[in-house]
Amino acid sequence: MRYITTHDAPATGLRGVGDTSWQTRGVCYGMDVEDADATFFPLPRDHEAIAEAKELCAACPVRRECLNYALENDLKDGIWGGVTEAERRAWHKGLPQRLDYTRVLAVFKGRDVHLTAKERQVVIDHAYVRGWRADRLAVALQIGHKHAQELLREAADKVFGRDLTFGVPPRRKKKEKKPAAPTTSRPTPARPATREPEFRPVTSTSANTSFGKAV
Ligand code: SF4
Repeated sequence: MRYITTHDAPATGLRGVGDTSWQTRGVCYGMDVEDADATFFPLPRDHEAIAEAKELCAACPVRRECLNYALENDLKDGIWGGVTEAERRAWHKGLPQRLDYTRVLAVFKGRDVHLTAKERQVVIDHAYVRGWRADRLAVALQIGHKHAQELLREAADKVFGRDLTFGVPPRRKKKEKKPAAPTTSRPTPARPATREPEFRPVTSTSANTSFGKAV
């Protein structure tokens, strides 16, 4: 079986699950813990602190990673990526419905990235259509073999149901060749032999024949 490995897969720019290396590049990295707490976890109406935190985040090179980290890890308190908890609320709610094909493709390239429920389902469906075996899906989603088997079975049922709904005809079986008819005992009449043309040497009776029409 051929596996797509991470070794030659181009980087997608997505953060891997559990990757916190971006934190050292953050503007707030190395801040005093108490100062950081006061700035990034302000009281809901502390507009001064909120403005200060937003200003810091606006100049931060890892703003996007920071915000995604908060969303994927369900961190509902504080300011992450320059977005307050009140501003993030709707995003937290809608995250399971996110369908980002960059992430789906990243999984097929062997990356270990965070998937929402919807993205995960797309991976499972595509894995079934691509003919993945359960052990391969288990590695990609980091789940047990039996669980992967079950998920593939569900995907198969779904595809089968969809084909029935949309009238996709089932595959036709190849027709089996009929065995050749038994030969009759009656001998087939032999065809009359064709006669070979006889070779007749040309004999010339006239003495002038060799001179042809010139004569
Ligand atoms: S975006 Fe803001 S909270 Fe996140 S790492 Fe940067 S400075 Fe810190």
